[in-house]
Amino acid sequence: MNGPDNFAVPDSEDQDIAAAPHDPIPYVDGNATAGALSEVFRIDIIAALGRCRHCGSVRAFGEAMAFTDAPGIVVRCRDCHGVLLRLVETPSQYWLDLSGLSYLEIDREE
Ligand SMILES: [Zn+2]
Repeated sequence: MNGPDNFAVPDSEDQDIAAAPHDPIPYVDGNATAGALSEVFRIDIIAALGRCRHCGSVRAFGEAMAFTDAPGIVVRCRDCHGVLLRLVETPSQYWLDLSGLSYLEIDREE
């Protein structure tokens, strides 16, 4: 962990991966983030609709591509592979970057 400034800086590596149509990095769907993100969000983010800031696609968060075999979790848009969310967990903090999402549309509990 290098601190908040480095965490927020987009890296060119993201763009390279996003441009590759046959990404060799293994991933699972966004549903795999439910456990970790439920610690941060007290809402059902998996069912929420999210708009990708990169391509404008609107999908259920659970349909995104989640890369969990890393120091943190990286969630990418299924349509353009742009980074939607990054989450890094330390013993005392969460570092959450949602800059790839224009918005989340979350159903209120009835
Ligand atoms: Zn996208």
